[in-house]
Amino acid sequence: MNIGGFQKNSLIDFPGTIACIIFTQGCNFVCPYCHNPDLVASPQKGACDLYDENMILEFLEKRKNLLEGVVITGGEPTLQKDLAVFCRKVKSMGYKLKLDTNGTRPRVLEKLFKERLVDFISMDIKTGLDNYSLVVPGEFNFKKIFQSARLLMEKAPAYEFRTTCTRPFVSKKIMKDIGEMIAGAKRYILQKCSRNVKVLDPEFLKADNNFFSDKEMLELKRTIDKYVGESVVR
Ligand code: SF4
Repeated sequence: MNIGGFQKNSLIDFPGTIACIIFTQGCNFVCPYCHNPDLVASPQKGACDLYDENMILEFLEKRKNLLEGVVITGGEPTLQKDLAVFCRKVKSMGYKLKLDTNGTRPRVLEKLFKERLVDFISMDIKTGLDNYSLVVPGEFNFKKIFQSARLLMEKAPAYEFRTTCTRPFVSKKIMKDIGEMIAGAKRYILQKCSRNVKVLDPEFLKADNNFFSDKEMLELKRTIDKYVGESVVR
């Protein structure tokens, strides 16, 4: 895999699990508020130095008794051709595995579920299906997002959906559309967008109107509450 970042420990990224985090390099979206801008460019563009996969596998072998899980995030992990191969190696060491995805590759997810390689999956829902052209450069079949969402609900051992709430990607109307798309989902996270970090498009942070107040976040939560089992603002 093309690994652009590695964090040895995290207590917060995999619910109930002490985990390390592997950041894959390359993403097919261009969310202006992306908090991992260095991971968006494809490895061929040489945005950053890549980690040696074998070095990370050796680290995992040594930490078997100290770490419980591995989080694979991005970038977009499902773009990695050898994702399943890597997941198999991690699972064979006894680790629990969490995957973060933007939901653009339902066939990859299906394969991972079929082989029982993933224990927990977080899928970002960026906006309503009609608005995905705001974050995807070029042609994209938006039905894939819907397919991935249904796959999680039907086949994932544990999952959550999450949305970074900023304008113009989210509004009360869009939140309702998202709710209809994932109606019956167990858990949905509404993430406030931090303005104190490096992002893909620094201009995005300058427009106050792009950001929701705490009160507005609660209104968005109330909008989605009737569609999902549990919703959380964080
Ligand atoms: S936020 Fe996620 S999906 Fe969007 S550009 Fe960044 S890594 Fe890609």
